[in-house]
Amino acid sequence: MSRTGSTIRTATPAAAAPLDVQRVRRDFPILAQSVHGKPLVYLDSAATSHKPQCVIDAVSRVYSEFNSNVHRGVHALSQRATDAYEAARGKVRDFINAADSAEVIFVRGTTEAINLAASSFARPRVKAGDEILITHMEHHSNIVPWQLLCEQTGAALRVAPIDDRGQLILEEWERLLSDRTKLVGVTYVSNALGTVNPVARMIRLAHERGVPVLIDGAQATPHIPIDVQALGCDFFAFSGHKTYGPTGIGVLYGRREHLEAMPPYQGGGDMISSVTFARTTYNDLPYKFEAGTPNIADAIGLGAAIDYLRGLGMDRVAAHEADVLAYGQARLAETPGIRPVGTADHKAGVLSFAMEGIHAHDVGTILDLEGIAIRTGHHCAQPVMERFGVPATARASLGVYNSREDIDALIAALGRVAEVFK
Ligand code: PLP
Repeated sequence: MSRTGSTIRTATPAAAAPLDVQRVRRDFPILAQSVHGKPLVYLDSAATSHKPQCVIDAVSRVYSEFNSNVHRGVHALSQRATDAYEAARGKVRDFINAADSAEVIFVRGTTEAINLAASSFARPRVKAGDEILITHMEHHSNIVPWQLLCEQTGAALRVAPIDDRGQLILEEWERLLSDRTKLVGVTYVSNALGTVNPVARMIRLAHERGVPVLIDGAQATPHIPIDVQALGCDFFAFSGHKTYGPTGIGVLYGRREHLEAMPPYQGGGDMISSVTFARTTYNDLPYKFEAGTPNIADAIGLGAAIDYLRGLGMDRVAAHEADVLAYGQARLAETPGIRPVGTADHKAGVLSFAMEGIHAHDVGTILDLEGIAIRTGHHCAQPVMERFGVPATARASLGVYNSREDIDALIAALGRVAEVFK
């Protein structure tokens, strides 16, 4: 499996035996239910993924066995909680191949991670006339924090265009990279289109001009093996809840030299070394950026999710999803009245489409009655909708528990949607 992810044209070769999806499904208790009297087909993992039993158990064990605050207590429960919390940080380090646990900061999710980088890294370095470069396919979380920064500093936001298939026009992006660019923000995988961006190449090109790069990895970590050292990115953000972990927990990875140089994001307990009214000194990394009591239980739950994914093998996960995605693309292509939105060569996890003459919300409502959960709307990527001239799309998105049968159920239900609107 290459680090650029799966492709819709060629199935990615599996490194080992294929994933046993029926077995995987049994690990996710929520999937064994009916919705409106039909077996649940969950195709909304890009919004949030479900949690395997081991994650549910890990969170539950925190509260039933060793709930306590971290880093502060000398008593046994506090020590256990601290050990488990820091062990989870180590699991994240290994999952994304960070050089050091100190480079892994626990936050609420991708949104908070990007806001942290915008406030503490970019804000002190950016002035009027500077530029931040993003792409047209960003989630609002990788647009609005930079707009706020630009309002505060007088810097300008530059947006690299995408083509009709939803691929970044790399030459245009490169043309926009200039002496004025102070930071590049780019999504690894587009949540609205599924496009996998050539981030390794983009990081190389940006670094040749001395420009740091933040990767929005929210839609990458569930699908693609991540190696932040091989990528060479300066920052990498992701959310636990899209990666089979709990809500309310996520990660900002930052290179140590950046994190050392950055001021704290929030002030409070745990992020200090000493406090007097005259002067406060700050704690070491990563605690300098974790003010207040952290989300202990959910960090530990994220650690369990990472154990689970690594147990399956990210290469096998990627190969399985590439197969289901390619099958879905092919089935949608032969379905009358469907216009796929986002047909990039390199895609992961997402099938977005519009249905001729039928609003996406009507499609989603009828599919729900068939027990099929998809997402409809702008997917927090309104500029993408505007680029493709649609108010909304229907989006089926994949998780490790989805199979070709789920795609068959989707296609059959789309047939019923077409019947209703005939
Ligand atoms: N970036 C991308 C590409 C996303 O898909 C999402 C969520 O859908 C986010 C950022 C924001 O993630 P969160 O809401 O978990 O902070």
